Amino acid sequence: MDLSFIINELGENRESYLNAVAPPVFQTGNFACKTVADMRHALQHETEVAFYTRGKNPTVVMLEQKIAALEGTEAAIAFGSGMAAVSAAVLSRVKAGDHIVCIKKPYTWANSLMLKFLPRFGVEVTMVDGTDAENFRRATQNNTVLYYLESPNSFTFELQDIRAVTAIAREHSVCTVIDNSFASPLFQNPAQMGVDLVIHSATKYIGGHSDAMGGIVCGSREAIHRIFKSEYMTLGAVLSPHEAWLLIRGLRTLPVRMERVAQTTRQVVAYLQQRKEVAEILWPFLPSHPQYELAKAQMKNNTGQFTVRLNTTDLKVIERFCDSLRHFLMAASWGGHESLIFPVAATVDPDSFSATGLFNLVRFYIGLEDADYLIKDLEQAFAQMYP
Ligand SMILES: *Cc1c(COP(=O)(O)O)cnc(C)c1O
Repeated sequence: MDLSFIINELGENRESYLNAVAPPVFQTGNFACKTVADMRHALQHETEVAFYTRGKNPTVVMLEQKIAALEGTEAAIAFGSGMAAVSAAVLSRVKAGDHIVCIKKPYTWANSLMLKFLPRFGVEVTMVDGTDAENFRRATQNNTVLYYLESPNSFTFELQDIRAVTAIAREHSVCTVIDNSFASPLFQNPAQMGVDLVIHSATKYIGGHSDAMGGIVCGSREAIHRIFKSEYMTLGAVLSPHEAWLLIRGLRTLPVRMERVAQTTRQVVAYLQQRKEVAEILWPFLPSHPQYELAKAQMKNNTGQFTVRLNTTDLKVIERFCDSLRHFLMAASWGGHESLIFPVAATVDPDSFSATGLFNLVRFYIGLEDADYLIKDLEQAFAQMYP
């Protein structure tokens, strides 16, 4: 399917709503039936028919069809946040007594799901270094049912060899789930490499304007149906029609935004590589990175996140650099128009601080500003580091 068709037309039945170009927000809870027979039909086919908005809502369905097509899966199901999508996807595959193999250092709340939430229900989790696919095999037990991936992963942007991991999963009849948020649905399609369930925090690149939240799980019709009938309807973390509308609007510009983000990020990284204040850049698209070849093989392009290790162990110096940036905002949720930093220093207690560990890492997200504008900002912030 053409990317332009998916973004601009797929799922949009304009003749049914006065040929409006922008889809209507079906801001309704109920859809009424004319007869008992109609209602019986609606109740029997709640996975397909708009009957109640906690089930199917036409604005939400449009978004689901488009993201499924972008990921090349049969179906998708949208949630009120990325974490609702992660939780539903994982819960749909486990029961008490089961075991999960998960990469080390997934997204913060996925980490909490694995280490704090699931153990309460008798699900055991082993975390492995995902940079070696064989670690998944080594950690697999008789009761292993799921491998959880995130590639690139949060903060350090390590990759898993997706094809290698799914091959091992098939040997052991294990389901694979990946959080694909960092790559966007344009630059990596894990279902094409054998992954069963592909998740996005739509809050990030898909929405793209820092004004809406959502999440989505893509997979086979059977797998998505199973989630609909259970976690989706039972836990009820649905996406509102208005948020779905905002996410569809965001999608219209996803290809141009991703291209721009990719290009500007390369320019900013090239600038940072010249700076003596920068000790290291964690970014798999640098030719010197140990996973550069893998990045080229399984991703179509780079995205806008990387992490810089500053060349200092002085917390005050790190803070002066971060506090001096005027155009990079200090915030967590990336993927919007605005460039961001997230300094690990903000998570350490200055009183019990020891000069080891990750405290001198600063995660960057590059948005839609001009490269020169961002580079000038970095230049003046570096100049403030040692007054
Ligand atoms: C933000 C994020 C999430 C969670 O998404 P929300 O929409 O904030 O719930 C999950 N995974 C990754 C990689 C993220 O960056």
